[in-house]
Amino acid sequence: MTDRIWPEVYKKLGVEPIINAQSWVTALGGSIMRPEVLAAMDEAANAFVDIKKLNRAAGEVVALACGAEQGLVTAGCSAAQVLMVAACMTGQSESNVEQLPDTTGMKNEVVLFKGQRNRYDKAFVTAGAKLVVYGSEEEGTIDELEAAINEKTACVAFVIMPFAPQGVGLEETIRVAHKRGVPVIVDAAAELPPRANLSKFHKLGADMVAFSGGKGIGGPQSSGLLAGKADLVEAAVMNSLNLDSSVAGIGRPMKVSKENIVGLVTAIQLFTDSDEAAEWEGWQLKAQYVAERLQGIDGVQVKIEDDPAERQGPQPVLYFEDEFEGPSISEIKEQLENGDPAIFVGGASERAEINIVMVNVQDGEEIVIADRMNEILRSS
Ligand SMILES: *Cc1c(COP(=O)(O)O)cnc(C)c1O
Repeated sequence: MTDRIWPEVYKKLGVEPIINAQSWVTALGGSIMRPEVLAAMDEAANAFVDIKKLNRAAGEVVALACGAEQGLVTAGCSAAQVLMVAACMTGQSESNVEQLPDTTGMKNEVVLFKGQRNRYDKAFVTAGAKLVVYGSEEEGTIDELEAAINEKTACVAFVIMPFAPQGVGLEETIRVAHKRGVPVIVDAAAELPPRANLSKFHKLGADMVAFSGGKGIGGPQSSGLLAGKADLVEAAVMNSLNLDSSVAGIGRPMKVSKENIVGLVTAIQLFTDSDEAAEWEGWQLKAQYVAERLQGIDGVQVKIEDDPAERQGPQPVLYFEDEFEGPSISEIKEQLENGDPAIFVGGASERAEINIVMVNVQDGEEIVIADRMNEILRSS
């Protein structure tokens, strides 16, 4: 390690900190909580409370932030996905809640556009549902969506994530599903910021929307939130701890600690009050610095990209052309990850790009990244 702080708690475990230029990915630690969030969690840890009351109160904060009828703090967006599907299957029937993951007698199909299949979609079936996929990897049509919906459909799921195609789009999906009386649930895990997205999908008519708490909001890494129509969110609450019943809900293994509930609530409040433009400007400056340092390498075009449909904040993207004679994209990433400190960037060989995402790059780390990239790219 050079010049960087190696927190004692990690040092004792022999685990070195890394530079995270890959975004709010779980594998690299999500995000860094603000001191106010940590202070709130510390305070919360010093008293016992009635968890049911705490859940209700926190749910109101979530609902308000999302412009939704009701909200719930969950153990991550994946947990929220499990609870949303469970809610759509059980409704507020106590016996249905107790019966899961056995879905006998319940609507148990989740319709999803094939182009939005992703590594997190197992959460849609965890509660016992079956996935019904329509369309191709690139395209889905209204006819295909309509044909996928039947009397067993519990809900239509819609996933919003970088580079995932939108199919017929959220608005059309909602229109088609609602015409058949079927709710639409949205996984928008990493779509914050911008904070306008907290309420955007509700305004379009989505029945429930889930976000990660440990990504752009800056809450505890294992927290998340869902919000939406009161009857469905109430059913999600029943499927979580189900504290009123002798049988815990399907969501019991995904409980949220009092510290995490308070941490997420505090993070949401800071997030909705934050100066978004200033934060963006900070990322932009780091992106510009790295982009400038990487100009003039034969066969490498460096551009700052910031299309919100594809990118998490402004970021230098390196496009590799055939005349580039240096190492392959995977070799470059390997060298970065094996360096000291280890640097993780985004991008894949299929897209012939490396992207350097700034949202988690701490002040000064952009210099380390540019130095190391230059060493690797200009050595050939
Ligand atoms: C990160 C992510 C999840 C999982 O969220 P957690 O909060 O880590 O549980 C689900 N879906 C998508 C699209 C994600 O990006």
